Amino acid sequence: MTIALHGKGISRGIALGAAHIVQRDTLEVVEYTVSAAELPLELARLDSAVEESRQGLRAMRERIPAHTPSDIVAFIDAHLLMLDDPHLTEEPKRLMHERGCNAEWALKLQRDALISVFDSMDDAYLRTRRDDVDHVFNRVLRALLNHAPARHEGGEANLEGLILIADDLSPADALLMQQHGIAGFITEYGGPTSHTAIIARSLGLPGVVGVPHARRYLREGEALIVDGDEGLVLGDADQRILEHYRARRDERQKKVSRLARLKRAPAMTADGVPIELLANVDLESDFELAKASGARGVGLYRTEFLYMNRLDPPSEEEHLAVYGRLVEAFRQQPVTIRTMDIGADKQTGAGVSSSRANTVNPALGMRAVRLGLKEPELLVPQLRAIVRASALGQVRLMIPMLSDLDEAAQVTHLIRGIQAEFTRLGVPHDPAMPIGGMLEVPAAVMFADGFARALDFLSIGTNDLIQYAVAIDRVNEEVSYLYDPLNPGVLRLIELAIRHADAADCPIAMCGEMAGDVRYTRLLLGLGLRAFSVHPSLLLEVKQVLAETELQPVRRLVAKTLKSTDPARYRELLTALG
Ligand code: PEP
Ligand code: MG
Repeated sequence: MTIALHGKGISRGIALGAAHIVQRDTLEVVEYTVSAAELPLELARLDSAVEESRQGLRAMRERIPAHTPSDIVAFIDAHLLMLDDPHLTEEPKRLMHERGCNAEWALKLQRDALISVFDSMDDAYLRTRRDDVDHVFNRVLRALLNHAPARHEGGEANLEGLILIADDLSPADALLMQQHGIAGFITEYGGPTSHTAIIARSLGLPGVVGVPHARRYLREGEALIVDGDEGLVLGDADQRILEHYRARRDERQKKVSRLARLKRAPAMTADGVPIELLANVDLESDFELAKASGARGVGLYRTEFLYMNRLDPPSEEEHLAVYGRLVEAFRQQPVTIRTMDIGADKQTGAGVSSSRANTVNPALGMRAVRLGLKEPELLVPQLRAIVRASALGQVRLMIPMLSDLDEAAQVTHLIRGIQAEFTRLGVPHDPAMPIGGMLEVPAAVMFADGFARALDFLSIGTNDLIQYAVAIDRVNEEVSYLYDPLNPGVLRLIELAIRHADAADCPIAMCGEMAGDVRYTRLLLGLGLRAFSVHPSLLLEVKQVLAETELQPVRRLVAKTLKSTDPARYRELLTALG
């Protein structure tokens, strides 16, 4: 009998294939006494497990093709570095001497101690390391316990066409799986905004995350369907259902080829109003994809991924090298580099850990511009690199999560100081580099006229704006039913932001997921939006809807609905817009 499991679809597309279950979280560790005479042998066991882990990671690194973006390779490099850290190599040995215990137990004690330190940290940036610590210690533990490496890590394993099911996956896992030719994946934990999800999207890998007990309900080898569009997993599907999904997958491929014809066409409505279509990029691997999609520039480059899975924040030179490549890919077109937005959901690289989920209100805490201003060592090298990159092309700097104009003023002040220093030293830069901000906090939207006058451009971040407007955490499953772009209050906020920006002649775009969801394209046009920044894989679909839409009737209908106090009118809006 066919069973259906629900989760969150994190990357579009449909995969059909046989299930392969990855068991990773069953490392049973017991303590036993090791006599003084046995201790040298036990210490040597630990050393060789660390060495085996190192060899495993090096082999994995070598299999990564040369053109792979540096930010993805960095995930593995960071783990290699950790294997040299005395916290991992020396401290467990000290515990073994002190307690006369086995290597596994000492390693487990040290891992638990480190993880609790990370969990208690206020510093959101450092807390992002917790998952790395967990992954690396588990790798050494697995070597000590003689567990085979996960099958997807083995060089010889044939995973071609399989659908992987795991408790959780690291971003590096997702990368390796794609290289092994897997068709798709399912995880029990993780949300649509985790790094794994974002990397899977960039790699075009269909996946569904947050499917509770998937490994219990699905059997090794059974035929599975992963519907990344709907967040649906179907197991043991009968022939009729398989046919249906095969047809959908093929139809999708045809649609992609049909849409490719629109690449060079200008983005405009049926009545000839030009619309700006820009790309969102998360990883270096998106740069070329974005360019190839026909985007007229980059409306959002999420730079926080440059900070993930490594021991120190990137240096000014590292930032500059990546920005140089982005500008190079886009030549004469604008690229919007957003300063790092670390914190809240962005610290959960490989899914939701229970201790982190217990952190009080991370979404309302120290993240993005707040963190950058509190810890200038994270932000200033980035600002310097962006200012230097402005000499190379049309660079725009964007500040995330503004809630107060003073935050924008402080960042601008830092930038002006850097520009003055560069002018003195003769370092090339564009003194007129536009500085913009994201409207993601309702208070900032209500004061959009103030922001529009103070900044050179604005962008509406609906992913956050919606969660803050309806007062939910965007990764909390229990309240996700409230996450509704059609909430009348949300629509009025968007309309207000656009109206204020237009009145101040300040360019405004939208770069949240809503901008790339074709169900909302007409609605957004009706709200007055004229610049959309979307994931490259969605750009042509949006372009097609634009070309099929007459602006005036849409504007009238949306304006009329926004005056209504009847929630049903808002719910019916999409149907009415056709
Ligand atoms: C948003 O909040 O809509 C946005 C684009 O930023 P991010 O998803 O990176 O928080
Ligand atoms: Mg945001």
